[in-house]
Amino acid sequence: MVEAMLLVDTSGSIVLANSAAQHLCGYPNDALCGMEIEMLVPHRFRDHHRRYRAMYYKHPRKRPMGNDRDIRLLNRSGEEISVDISLSPITIKKHLYILATLNAIDRRYQVESALRENEERLWLIQQAAGAGIFDIDCVNGRVYCDERMRGLLGNEAGENMALEKFFAAIHPGDRAKCRAVFDETIDLSANGRCRGEFRLAQPPDCTEHWIATLGQAQFENGKAKRIVGIARDITERKLLEQTLQQQRNETEALFSQQVAIITASAIAHEINSPLTAVSAYGEVAHHALSVSPIDCDRAKVALDGCVQQAQKAGEKLHELIGFLQNREVQTETLNLNRIIEDALLQTRNDGFGEFQLALDLKPDLPAVKANRIQIQRVLVNLIRNAVEAMRAENVVNSEIAITVETLSGENMAIVTIKDNGPGIDRNTICRIFDPFFTTKPTGFGVGLSISRALIEANGGQLWIDPDFRHGAQFHFTLPYAS
Ligand code: ADP
Repeated sequence: MVEAMLLVDTSGSIVLANSAAQHLCGYPNDALCGMEIEMLVPHRFRDHHRRYRAMYYKHPRKRPMGNDRDIRLLNRSGEEISVDISLSPITIKKHLYILATLNAIDRRYQVESALRENEERLWLIQQAAGAGIFDIDCVNGRVYCDERMRGLLGNEAGENMALEKFFAAIHPGDRAKCRAVFDETIDLSANGRCRGEFRLAQPPDCTEHWIATLGQAQFENGKAKRIVGIARDITERKLLEQTLQQQRNETEALFSQQVAIITASAIAHEINSPLTAVSAYGEVAHHALSVSPIDCDRAKVALDGCVQQAQKAGEKLHELIGFLQNREVQTETLNLNRIIEDALLQTRNDGFGEFQLALDLKPDLPAVKANRIQIQRVLVNLIRNAVEAMRAENVVNSEIAITVETLSGENMAIVTIKDNGPGIDRNTICRIFDPFFTTKPTGFGVGLSISRALIEANGGQLWIDPDFRHGAQFHFTLPYAS
């Protein structure tokens, strides 16, 4: 901390005061300059001080003031502060001045001034970042919000409100997440950090508004006492992310469509000529059977031709599928826990992160042998489907639980992904793995069929639990590497 310094002339007038001295005395520079130094001395000591000053000027030398006595400074608010003062004579252009260096020894004052400095810094940061401040009193369940924070939360927010009202300012879809962040922040075993991104319930202009919060809990006697933090409006960033995501989704959909068109054209190309031949042979057979007498030989030749051409079409198709499948899948030994975490990160980055997650990983799970990109793709598909289903139904506390464990009695891992969305009715359930089956207005219906093919290509199985009634529950297995 910079020491407080006052330069005083022989008449006892202050001629210079640094900012620390202004802060300590509580006067602005203008008021201090020209002020008699005794104005900073409590009334009862003023006369004594004037005599002391006159004596000192006769024999000026560098020394501490007060001979170990408690020296008091009277600040502008009328408070007395204990100070250490050291005096040094300075001659400037033949004029004598005394430089008084003051150090507050009042503990409370020091703490307050350090706090004030911190508060000033925080204020500057807060201004620069456009952040609002909240201060949650965890004991009494109340929240203080500064003006900017109230502005972020909307009209209803008061300066000092109940914690429940604070939660009510968060969008219903994000409220459970916000409570979970709060619970984790006050959990003594965690690090007390409060970090989250939430939508607001009452956006000022009825468009979607987002805030990001960052705070820290303070604990006392093993309990969280308060959480102080800042919140920023991140709507612009979120909108940008959403736009980018939408573009990525559109590109992906277009790509899937192109793949489907090219595949369908290849199939059509391969089976078009055998089909045309089947049709021609069919007509010949039809004619041979409709004349009188029936031309059995011709009909037989034509039907033989039909069979041959149909078989040829089948062979062509097998060749095509064989060609597509013969591309060797690169596999490696993988930590399935890590892949699940990566897939979760990807879905959150893709804009599908608005759910509560119950993650049950097994740190000592043996490695699986599979293709990283394909397995991640399957997981992302399943999680995205779950989010889309819950979104479509406006599920308030949307949850996804992911569990990984060893399939009992097998050398395989089993991953379970369940959501609390609408689930799938019995009539639909048998069709969801069919290519191009979709119930979504902009769906393409290939996600599950591709996912199943990918898991099977990696030596596992993918299925849905038909008896699960609280949403949808998918499982897939993968063989262990050893
Ligand atoms: P798409 O997502 O393009 O529709 P999918 O093959 O991934 O294609 O899914 C097929 C259909 O399965 C979906 O349209 C939906 O009806 C149903 N479905 C998949 N996952 C879920 C889920 N978690 N909850 C409810 N329905 C689902």
